[in-house]
Amino acid sequence: MTFTLAIVGRPNVGKSTLFNRLVGKKLALVDDQPGVTRDIREGAGRLGDLRFVVIDSAGLEMAEDDSLQGRMRRLTERAVDEADICLFVVDARIGITAADEYFAEILRRRAKHVIVAANKSEGRAGEAGAMEAYALGLGEPLRISAEHGEGMDDLYGVLMPLA
Ligand code: GDP
Ligand code: MG
Repeated sequence: MTFTLAIVGRPNVGKSTLFNRLVGKKLALVDDQPGVTRDIREGAGRLGDLRFVVIDSAGLEMAEDDSLQGRMRRLTERAVDEADICLFVVDARIGITAADEYFAEILRRRAKHVIVAANKSEGRAGEAGAMEAYALGLGEPLRISAEHGEGMDDLYGVLMPLA
């Protein structure tokens, strides 16, 4: 049995960096510009002995119109609906924003299973942000660093029982 993992979250939190790490290739475009991932990318994810489908979504955007943001939002909702598990990535260095809270609500209603990951937590950075993420009420956040590969064993630990 395999599963589909959708990586969701607002722009610039490190979704594509994590996707690349799980897929092991430079498939997703990583950029300092928020919202660079325009479309949904799908890849063969692996973590330890786990094999799964991983989706890198466009950043969750709040606009509901026909703009690019509205389109990205609809694509993301489709990814959420298709996924068995949503990995909700927040930026531990910035902490929880209004946009994070808004999308936490969508995930609470829409997602089958949510794992919160407080990214950019390398070293001791982001401890306060991870605490804030706990207050989202979506379970205990994993502290990870997609860029430096930290916290991947903890991610394995929460995915393994769900696989
Ligand atoms: P996305 O918009 O959510 O897909 O975010 P990206 O993966 O494109 O990353 C946005 C920025 O955050 C880039 O400059 C990344 O190098 C940086 N970034 C991603 N993961 C980490 C991390 O674990 N630690 C730090 N310090 N920066 C990161
Ligand atoms: Mg991206």
